[in-house]
Amino acid sequence: MGGNTHEEPFPWHLGVYDAHCHPTDTMSALPSISSMKTRVLTVMATRSQDQELVASIAETHGIKSPKLEQWSREECIVPCFGWHPWFAHQMYVTTEGAGDEKEQEKGILEGEAKVEHYRKIFKRETIKDEDRRTFLALPNPAPFSAFLAQTRTYLEKYPLALIGEIGLDRGIRIPEPEGPTNFRQGDENMTPGSREGKKLTAFKPDPQHQKLIFKMQMQLAAEMGRAVSIHGVQAHGMLFDAVKELFEGHEKKVLSKKERKKLAQEHNPDPSHEEEGRNENGNSNQRRPPYPPRICLHSYSGDFSNLSRYLQPSVPIDIFVSFSTAINLSDALESDTPQNFIDLIKKIPDQCLLVESDLHVAGEDMDRRMEDIVRRICTIRGWGLDEGVRILGENWRTFVFGHEGSIR
Ligand SMILES: [Zn+2]
Repeated sequence: MGGNTHEEPFPWHLGVYDAHCHPTDTMSALPSISSMKTRVLTVMATRSQDQELVASIAETHGIKSPKLEQWSREECIVPCFGWHPWFAHQMYVTTEGAGDEKEQEKGILEGEAKVEHYRKIFKRETIKDEDRRTFLALPNPAPFSAFLAQTRTYLEKYPLALIGEIGLDRGIRIPEPEGPTNFRQGDENMTPGSREGKKLTAFKPDPQHQKLIFKMQMQLAAEMGRAVSIHGVQAHGMLFDAVKELFEGHEKKVLSKKERKKLAQEHNPDPSHEEEGRNENGNSNQRRPPYPPRICLHSYSGDFSNLSRYLQPSVPIDIFVSFSTAINLSDALESDTPQNFIDLIKKIPDQCLLVESDLHVAGEDMDRRMEDIVRRICTIRGWGLDEGVRILGENWRTFVFGHEGSIR
């Protein structure tokens, strides 16, 4: 393919932005964060153990203004708050409007209420004694409303914070309860509660429950006018349907070819009028629409036909698609870029592309993966490195801060 060789110096000085990562999973590596070559990390929260950690680095390293010329070197993260589908089973949702106030006040579930919760979430008719033991050893389920209230508080406190990581995953099985027999070597350095490397049970959380948790967070993002970083695995169709349910009835008006032609012949030869109304959600005095302004499909693993549903001109959400060496290229740093990845990247509009590490540890490894994915995408798109880094940087700033005036 020619293009960028590794001899060509990498233009870090132009600003490289990681659109999705988890540095709070390895707190011991966090001090390296402000000396990284990657300029800003978009830091996800996923579960009960990391929300506060993300808030704490937002205090010390959070970007305070969308204007990059105002950033100090210490300002190098954008905090994101969210509940990941891998942990959806740890939450229960009391349906709004059920009218039963006591339902709302059950608090943390324990004992038989906990067993019953997990029986429903894992869709079991009956349960064996060993299942009961497993359920009792899993985390005590918490009301999702409390989590949403906490997230709202964080979003109010950090006006540039986003929602993430949230989504749908139909491939997951729940890990065995954490304990002395279910800890992998090296786990003692990791923030508790993560899923990586754990032994798995046969239990799969109900996709409908995941969807409920996902949509409630999307609605909060809509209300607060924040962008969202989305995880989708083996659920690309279902995920789009869930997003669509939010914007249905609010589609952008797109003229058919025939209508456009007719209009052009009659009086209006300017096709740009279709873009009008694009920033209708930009005005904070107006009621916000019921869908978030911008979403990023992170480490996108679907095919182009699923992606093209998001890219239809009628979809009123600005769509970004992000890629990582860790997930999209199975972390094969030195190997050739697979053809199916090349084919997918070629089809994505310039303004939608983002790059990310999706790594769980800050520092040199993260920089290495950022450089790798940027180089590959530049080669595929035929961009010079400077040009590519500029485009990707501009895209990241639009994803995080919105078009001018659309942030609160
Ligand atoms: Zn992630």
